[in-house]
Amino acid sequence: MEIKQVAVIGAGTMGNGIAQVFAQAGYPVTMIDIAAEQLQRGQATIERSLAKLVEKGKLGAAERDAALARIHTAATLDAAAGADLAVEAVFENAAVKKETLHALDAILPPQAILASNTSSISITELAAATGRPAQVIGMHFMNPVPLMQLVEIIRGLQTGDDTATATVETVRRLGKTPVLVNDAAGFVANRILMPMINEAVYTLMEGVASAEAIDTVMKLGMNHPMGPLTLADLIGLDVCLAIMEVLHKNLGDDKYRPCPLLRRMVAAGYLGRKSGRGFYTY
Ligand code: NAD
Repeated sequence: MEIKQVAVIGAGTMGNGIAQVFAQAGYPVTMIDIAAEQLQRGQATIERSLAKLVEKGKLGAAERDAALARIHTAATLDAAAGADLAVEAVFENAAVKKETLHALDAILPPQAILASNTSSISITELAAATGRPAQVIGMHFMNPVPLMQLVEIIRGLQTGDDTATATVETVRRLGKTPVLVNDAAGFVANRILMPMINEAVYTLMEGVASAEAIDTVMKLGMNHPMGPLTLADLIGLDVCLAIMEVLHKNLGDDKYRPCPLLRRMVAAGYLGRKSGRGFYTY
């Protein structure tokens, strides 16, 4: 099936980036968020991001204007009614995601695909909240979405071949590289990345080194583009904690236990860049 119209649910760190890349690739996009200030913030982030691309000569001013004109915002899910593809990027919480997908299932045309940008929650489990499990798939974009090449595509137990093919095609049209993986907690990206970040937080908590020292060791010693604590701040500490909890619960091994310092920071509202303070201050 051909995707002509897209809805993105959630205008946060990921949702606005996802809306932007679809709009840049020529898709009309409706970006939906229940929080008005998040919609405004998301729209402003898109405008800044496109302006930067123009400054760097990677995008023409006319292309920027055309992309912006393709993005509409809305406060309720009804606005997704005409979409062929809905990408859900709400909180990393299974109950919230299931409720959102269940509601979208009743609103979207019968042939539409429901994709989740979940970092770790089972696609099979999310699909079961809808009446169209064959058309539910994981479309896991990386942060920051406009810059990152990879989209991890996750097939749930019931995901149909047509859905997988259409999703892979769509990701290619975005100019990104799809990698197909199977459904297991954390998939590939976060099964490997998140335990490393969690271990960095333990290393900090145990006083082995300062945040700056930990990040410098991993940057200069392992050639990572940024250290794990800087990356955690970029991802959002609440998102990191939610992913560790999914890994711990589903894989059942204590090696995935979330670091107590990570829990305390989330409880204090230190969520990283998005709240102005995490392991660093912004
Ligand atoms: P975020 O907290 O920045 O944004 C979530 C947004 O969803 C908020 O604006 C919130 O108002 C909105 N929302 C919540 N419930 C809603 C509902 N019922 N209807 C409409 N909007 C609703 O979170 P984020 O970092 O953008 O993460 C979103 C998803 O993307 C999560 O599943 C997360 O695991 C995944 N993800 C995050 C990253 C990352 O680096 N942050 C990377 C890849 C995937």
